[in-house]
Amino acid sequence: MSDIIKLLPDHVANQIAAGEVVQRPASVVKELLENAIDAGATSIKLMVKDAGKTLIQVIDNGKGMSMTDARMAFERHATSKITTAEDLFNLNTKGFRGEALASIAAVAHVEVKTKRDSDSLGTLLKIEGSKVTSQEPTVTAKGTMISVRNLFFNIPARRKFLKSDQVELRNITDEFHRVAMAHPSIQFSFDHNDNSLFQLPTSTLRQRVVNIMGPKSNEKLVPVEEETELINISGFVGKPEFARKSRGLQFFFVNDRFIKHSYFHHAVVSAFEGLLKDKAIPSYFLFLTVPADSVDINIHPTKTEVKFDDEHSLYAIIRASVKHALGQFSVQGIDFNLEQQYEVPYEVARQSQAEKPRIEVNLDFNPFKDSGASKVSNSNVGFTSFKKEKAPVWESLYSGMNQSTELIDETIHQEENPQLFQREEHQQKPIFQLQRKYIVSTLKSGLLLVNQQRAHERILFEQLSKQLSKNHAVSQQLLFPVKLNFAVQEVLQLKELENHLEGAGFVFKTLKDNVVEVEGVPLELNENDVRTVLESVLDSKVTSEKDTSQLSLQLAGQLSKSMSIKTGAILSVQEMETIINQLFSCSEPQLTPDHKKIFINMTSESLDSKFQ
Ligand code: ADP
Ligand code: MG
Repeated sequence: MSDIIKLLPDHVANQIAAGEVVQRPASVVKELLENAIDAGATSIKLMVKDAGKTLIQVIDNGKGMSMTDARMAFERHATSKITTAEDLFNLNTKGFRGEALASIAAVAHVEVKTKRDSDSLGTLLKIEGSKVTSQEPTVTAKGTMISVRNLFFNIPARRKFLKSDQVELRNITDEFHRVAMAHPSIQFSFDHNDNSLFQLPTSTLRQRVVNIMGPKSNEKLVPVEEETELINISGFVGKPEFARKSRGLQFFFVNDRFIKHSYFHHAVVSAFEGLLKDKAIPSYFLFLTVPADSVDINIHPTKTEVKFDDEHSLYAIIRASVKHALGQFSVQGIDFNLEQQYEVPYEVARQSQAEKPRIEVNLDFNPFKDSGASKVSNSNVGFTSFKKEKAPVWESLYSGMNQSTELIDETIHQEENPQLFQREEHQQKPIFQLQRKYIVSTLKSGLLLVNQQRAHERILFEQLSKQLSKNHAVSQQLLFPVKLNFAVQEVLQLKELENHLEGAGFVFKTLKDNVVEVEGVPLELNENDVRTVLESVLDSKVTSEKDTSQLSLQLAGQLSKSMSIKTGAILSVQEMETIINQLFSCSEPQLTPDHKKIFINMTSESLDSKFQ
């Protein structure tokens, strides 16, 4: 038998090696931006077409390359940044592997124009799938322009696996942020399909963070500064009250390189101990400076995970300095401990004055006037009495009910469980609120205790998931569109979900750059809560990559959670009645979408047994 081992042809070896470095358009963006920074550029322009699938172009005003270097740069393991293996332990550049350009050129059509300051003519070089197709002198400005076209043109399987333009653009935007955030002294711009997404002038770090994260972020930042022998820390953490459930706004930089570090992440989070809402994750933009030889950035091919000497001490220093910064900030007049003791939702706790309980009296009510409806809806507690046909204000709040009763087969449960859900007839039923959390009423069989927030969540969930699955949106038009500012990448995320959000009743006028303009909202959503609800969608794990029906359910779950009446809200008798009626029209009144118990029914027998 003949021998079977062969050396792979160069172009195949190159494509395989390229797979390590270039996974998606965002990887190309990262490598090109980093090269521009290593070349000492003070101005860097990124231009992208079709989320990088058609074109990725980076123009810098850095030191440029000679004609020979331009050609050499595309050889594998060709780098100007290290000469010996020891240099690896003393890195001051982003790149060092000498693989990026070779990899990119193996899987795309690449064009480079470059000139050094000292040369009068520059070089134009074209490479397609690792083959140089032309090299000639050219007139060009100092610096380098690299255009990468038709990424993965020669690996169709890879190209097919790229995600939607919106997802790929979001990945690119993430990379752009990481690089731009770390270099506020460099001017950056980023255009997509000829629209300008970011124009970042030279600025302070704080301004850079604000320019990237949106104008509202300035007031949310608390500075962190700490110098020790082992490490210097500078940057910002977000104030605790702005912490969100998403993991999007956490940035660590080590020696100006973006890294991920779950242990240090934990250090920051633990410094916020006791200050955060349930499960919220603080945002941070922290720059760690350590001696180059105390960090090994070489353990991961895409270089976002790194190892430090003495991580335990660094953990303690990071935690202490964030705590210190938060402490100083709180001394300046804000007491973080305010909300801790009470089980009151954040929104309610933040209201400076407690609302007085109110008793609503319908002045128009005339007990002697015949009204068929009063039999149905009078709750007759104390002095309160309403006539249904008058369409009191609360009805608009629950106007989605008509929708839901039409959609949901009410009879099922009542038939299944007639004892439990039949309210006692011909008798006035007491209904009241306990601790602004439970609705207490009676059933034929005994006492009913309903958790108001969970009940409303279930009601909304069934309405919304029906709408979404039938793609039959019910929405209320706002008198004036609500205009909100979000970070650009958040707007991209919402854009990915646009169809689904519209299915739930949102109508968007604008979803572009960092502007979200909403013209219509789901029936039960108050226009003041639009931001909170959209933020909760962004924070949730709802993404467009899931299959559609799965996504609809997730979105319905998320929206119903954030739109529901919360614990702490004061309810009128009518609101309580409506909740109970709607709840028992639901197909699964017992549990919330995430399987929490909604009500307890204490039968007279179980009450009796307690008195024995
Ligand atoms: P690395 O960055 O790891 O050295 P690359 O393949 O990214 O490897 O780049 C190879 C070399 O090409 C770099 O070491 C640098 O000398 C040169 N180079 C790449 N991009 C630029 C640029 N924008 N300006 C000047 N020189 C560059
Ligand atoms: Mg490089």
